[in-house]
Amino acid sequence: MKTIVIATKNKGKIREMEQAFHDLPVQLRPLSDYGDLPEAVEDGTTFAANAKIKAKFYMEKTGAACLADDSGLEVEILDGAPGVYSARFAGEHASDEDNNEKLIAEITGRGASSSPAAYRCVLAFADTDGTILTSEGSCSGVIRPQAKGSGGFGYDPYFYIGEDKTMAELTLTEKDAISHRGIALRQMARHLSKYLAVKK
Ligand code: IMP
Repeated sequence: MKTIVIATKNKGKIREMEQAFHDLPVQLRPLSDYGDLPEAVEDGTTFAANAKIKAKFYMEKTGAACLADDSGLEVEILDGAPGVYSARFAGEHASDEDNNEKLIAEITGRGASSSPAAYRCVLAFADTDGTILTSEGSCSGVIRPQAKGSGGFGYDPYFYIGEDKTMAELTLTEKDAISHRGIALRQMARHLSKYLAVKK
């Protein structure tokens, strides 16, 4: 059975990947199984570039095939920001609260009371023979200054997916069905299924 290292320390993402790939003949292993590894330098300007940087970096460090993701929020009125800087929008060690505060200040600072936005996610798989597979997903919504809901994480309480509902008000299963990461994961599961069948 093929081993795939999941290049994240985020336990929630590991669980999502296990769920998405449970039908595939693969053994998923967390990065933590490989000891104390250095962090990949995510200096790409797109989600795809960063996902590939991480997948290749950890494939080389572990000697096993590796799957990495990169995701974030693009806000129309902010010309696509925070984009690849979503996690550190308000600074290197910013909390979700700091990032949300900056997000709303930037939108209202442009004289708007809301803005169309999209979450985006790119997954990259790097095999030891140099094969790279990618998949992506996006989810459209509107950022409004009124926070609602206590589920999810990051920008979810401000990300409206309907007139009156935010991403933070969905159950995990509901979010997975429409989210950027859920879509990208299901697409990657299909790519991997074909790839592994040919490699047999
Ligand atoms: P990363 O892909 O884990 O580096 O995530 C980048 C950042 O994008 C996160 O820290 C969040 O700020 C934001 N983000 C990505 N996906 C979501 C989501 O599903 N909800 C809310 N924020 C998200």
